[in-house]
Amino acid sequence: MRNAHCPICGQSSTTVLQLRFGAKMQLPTDVEVRHCAHDNFLFVTGGRQSDYDAYYAAVANDTVHQEVAVGAVRSPISILQKDHLVAALDGEPAPRSVLDFGCGEASLLVELATHFPSSRFVGFDPGPAASKGSRKAAALGLDNLSIAGLEASARGAPYDLVIASHVIEHVIDFDMLTLLHDLVTEDGLLYVEVPNPLKYAAYERREFLYYFDRLHVNHFTPQALAGLLGRYGFGAVKHFEYAFPYRDDGQFPALGMLFRKGLSGDDLVSPSLLDEAQGYIRQEKARAKTVAGQLETFEGILVWGAGDNFRRSVENGGPLANCRNMVVLDRRPGEVTVGDVRRPTVDPRTGVQSCDWPVVATVSEARSEIGRQLAEIDPARRLIFI
Ligand SMILES: [Zn+2]
Repeated sequence: MRNAHCPICGQSSTTVLQLRFGAKMQLPTDVEVRHCAHDNFLFVTGGRQSDYDAYYAAVANDTVHQEVAVGAVRSPISILQKDHLVAALDGEPAPRSVLDFGCGEASLLVELATHFPSSRFVGFDPGPAASKGSRKAAALGLDNLSIAGLEASARGAPYDLVIASHVIEHVIDFDMLTLLHDLVTEDGLLYVEVPNPLKYAAYERREFLYYFDRLHVNHFTPQALAGLLGRYGFGAVKHFEYAFPYRDDGQFPALGMLFRKGLSGDDLVSPSLLDEAQGYIRQEKARAKTVAGQLETFEGILVWGAGDNFRRSVENGGPLANCRNMVVLDRRPGEVTVGDVRRPTVDPRTGVQSCDWPVVATVSEARSEIGRQLAEIDPARRLIFI
């Protein structure tokens, strides 16, 4: 299990933020975001790799493409991502064989297989999204793209290029990097893409402290990623930043890094992630204060959604931290812990019909669906998203 020691260098670390979440399979409920000064790196404590493995095997963690693409087979996110990756590969021979390790619905592979029609592409994903990738490749007539299990992917090795896109920020146990090293040809390439934590404050989201949760267990600067990959036999070739369209109509900051197997990289130095993270947290608390001031003008509020965003919002100076009168709406009967207080939850229809307070929705996904459901119960009811 992750503890207070840095998972990259093993040195001691300092607490940046404490977060509490509700039960979700065996994922940890009480976590800390901690900082390693040696690696210029933030990480989340408390989790076990086996619990995360079980979670990702059960959950499609790739819905953002569908929400941004609104039904289209091609994802606008992946088209942009492919453009950036192809630009990064400029000067290299075109990769003849490519593995996307953690390919989700194979959105990026579809774009790459179209761009490099004479190269071979394989996608592996432990979750249920992978089967959609197979169907997409067939629908687009891409016979140079296949989706495979872990063993079949390994049998197809070595690959000129292995991609780990939005994968490594989810990994507790970095030993999987040994496997990626084995899958790449000698002096082949590894492309890693992760969220860019140096830009969290610049790409503010509606949800309080959105970028800190228990799924993104690593927050990498280029320095931290180069330090980690250096320990597994990869040297950094280049890195770049960009932002892709996100489900809330904003943009999401990403960091792309290209590594070469066997290259001994120079030590990279990045701006201080601790300074950036503390700035982001201060900015979030100031924003939450404004929202809380608005909510205080009501006698009370009905809160729709008791998930991670709700849990974050009731602590750490979040927008609901000092809310006096709050009724939590949830379809499943039960109770929810708010700070240290356990409160019963009320069925949304019953709650809205019996109380005229405005509804504050804390749900991140499918927001329009909440609006539709509320309008069905009471078309005049005020709805505020936080
Ligand atoms: Zn460290």
